[in-house]
Amino acid sequence: MSDVFAELVGQDDAVDTLRRAAAAAADVLRNTAGAGAGMTHAWIFTGPPGSGRSVAARAFAAALQCVHGTGCGACPGCHTTLTGTHADVRLVVPEGLSIGVTEMRALVLRAASTPSGGRWQVVIVEDADRLTEAAGNALLKAVEEPPPRTVFLLCAPSTHPEDVSVTIRSRCRLVPLRQPPPGAVAEVLVRRDGIAPDVAQWAAAAAQGHVGRARRLARDPQAQQRRSAVLGVPRRLTGVGAAFDAASALIEAAEAEAEAAVAETDAAEKAALQTALGAGGTGRGAAGAARGSAGQIKELEKRQKSRATRAQRDALDRALVDLAGFYRDAVTAAVGAPVAPVHTDTAELSRAGAQKWTAEGALRRLEAVLECRQAITANVKPRIAVEAMMLALWKG
Ligand SMILES: [Zn+2]
Repeated sequence: MSDVFAELVGQDDAVDTLRRAAAAAADVLRNTAGAGAGMTHAWIFTGPPGSGRSVAARAFAAALQCVHGTGCGACPGCHTTLTGTHADVRLVVPEGLSIGVTEMRALVLRAASTPSGGRWQVVIVEDADRLTEAAGNALLKAVEEPPPRTVFLLCAPSTHPEDVSVTIRSRCRLVPLRQPPPGAVAEVLVRRDGIAPDVAQWAAAAAQGHVGRARRLARDPQAQQRRSAVLGVPRRLTGVGAAFDAASALIEAAEAEAEAAVAETDAAEKAALQTALGAGGTGRGAAGAARGSAGQIKELEKRQKSRATRAQRDALDRALVDLAGFYRDAVTAAVGAPVAPVHTDTAELSRAGAQKWTAEGALRRLEAVLECRQAITANVKPRIAVEAMMLALWKG
């Protein structure tokens, strides 16, 4: 029997907490006399990318809307929440680099209304670390004085002040998720997605605990190809020119991947907007309407550009995580640590690197990759950060 929490891989502690909270929330609904007591209205789910922050938030939302109050996975409340059609569950998924204040204000306003299904109004904010400061303040007001039937579920990489403001953090109950062990990830790929056990094991290790990435690696030949290209980088770094070439290749691959990812949505959105605006018109008011539509098209283009930038950064970050895995394997090989390599298929190469560079040199290279990730997060131009990294990987 699989309920809504079955999708949460290797998170027994968190699932325990959420089950108990869902039961407590159901009690609140049953006992109107003591309504509100013991209920937590704001939650933060933290954990590394791929650990299942948004999966956990959605599962908990389903359990709150479940007619049995447990997250049975079968009732209309569970089902509509998980498919994203429940009238009282709002999901904010930032498409650009940040979530703006207008969006957040509108959301907070709607979240204050009485739940139409008679249970809870649930607002899920994915990537709460991408809230603008003004949006964070709008959210804080709601979290400080939550309407009696409203629950906020925030997802963020950590509770570091750069991710979530200290004041928001102090109002929320924390659900830390851990990086699921490769064994647990492989198990779910086999059970749920019907992937062959040996492929599942390879993908789970290569994805370093990222469930979604493991599934993509197991299934998508293009994702496999991109990974192979990234893991080919250390071998190709034979000089300054080669280092710059490798940087260009990495950046361009990320751009191509991002473009493919957003192209379809972009085209569909533009077509929909053009249809909505109608084509041309010559009557009175047409000039004003045309000015208005130009503004709307510009707005859409701005949003799409922001989404493309984010898709590029995400693609580049995936590549850097793969590369970090390679140098991590070199470090563990150099010090003789008894742990399995991240990338079994390049284990021989990372061992050879370990011999050539020694532990110290391998560690310096691993640090260069991690510094590059940090620099890009801190808004250093990706090309500049990647070029600096490639030179450091070559020189050691
Ligand atoms: Zn249910």
